[in-house]
Amino acid sequence: MVDKWLAGVDLGGTTTKIAFLNECGEIQHKWEIPTDKSESGKHIIGNIAKSIDVKLEQLDVTKEKLVGIGMGAPGPVEKTRGIIYEAINLGWGEHTPLKDLIEMETGLPAVIDNDANCAALGEMWKGAGHGAKDLVCITLGTGVGGGVITNGEIVHGVRGAGGEIGHITVVPKDGYSCNCGKTGCLETVASATGVVRVAHEKLQSSTESSVLRDLESLGSKQIFDAAREGDSLALKIVDQLAYYLGLSLANLGNAVNPEKIVIGGGVSKAGKTLLDPVMNYFKRFAFPKVRTSTDIDIATLENDAGVIGAAWLVKNALH
Ligand SMILES: [Zn+2]
Repeated sequence: MVDKWLAGVDLGGTTTKIAFLNECGEIQHKWEIPTDKSESGKHIIGNIAKSIDVKLEQLDVTKEKLVGIGMGAPGPVEKTRGIIYEAINLGWGEHTPLKDLIEMETGLPAVIDNDANCAALGEMWKGAGHGAKDLVCITLGTGVGGGVITNGEIVHGVRGAGGEIGHITVVPKDGYSCNCGKTGCLETVASATGVVRVAHEKLQSSTESSVLRDLESLGSKQIFDAAREGDSLALKIVDQLAYYLGLSLANLGNAVNPEKIVIGGGVSKAGKTLLDPVMNYFKRFAFPKVRTSTDIDIATLENDAGVIGAAWLVKNALH
């Protein structure tokens, strides 16, 4: 088994990332293919299987080299039977038997989980989690994803919707509408677009001068850059975001007391400019014992977290 590889797949709405990793979780080869959502996404799995075959052929390696295939998919998952309840972004119908489909197309044993859960497992295994068995991972990207790991296992809940940190309500009254159908979710104010939305609101509700007023297009990067330069309105926007995050993470921390909370995704590139104020609010809202034992850090794996976590699924299940 020494030289075997694990195949990790991070299935996204526009691109699918695929990687071969050794059993220590080190990426040996990685590449991307577009996700073909035409005809209700019926080509997606076949395309992945084909791409893996082509890559093996290019590398002059036989399929026996692969222990199995792990996949993170965008939607709530029933882990045991390997069913994805729904994947609106991919055009799939309800209760798609994803594990069976992958096994049929690739001829390899497959393990599936939700994509945000895979990112959390990736950070646990090879990233900022450094093997911590109790870990919460939050990804601030186009949306806000989350994964909760206790005692080394992802918390799935009764219908696969455990760890939906992005849909914790942080604005109970008059909040923005969320894609999930609710209002006031963390995702509406802490995703890449959410931060910009909060910024526009702050800019409109005051006359305070700010470098942000002169920008042609406003993104989370510009907001954090301005905050770093001491722009007072930008600092207020970051403070508002930190409040929402600190409050959510403290309440989550009070529920599961993880060793580490890892913040990933595009918005987390702000680093300390984000982390320091989040930590302040976290400490304010966390139960004393949680405050002193749960640490918060920025994710380290960036876009590779998903494929590494997906490969971990294989390692964990098939070994
Ligand atoms: Zn929501």
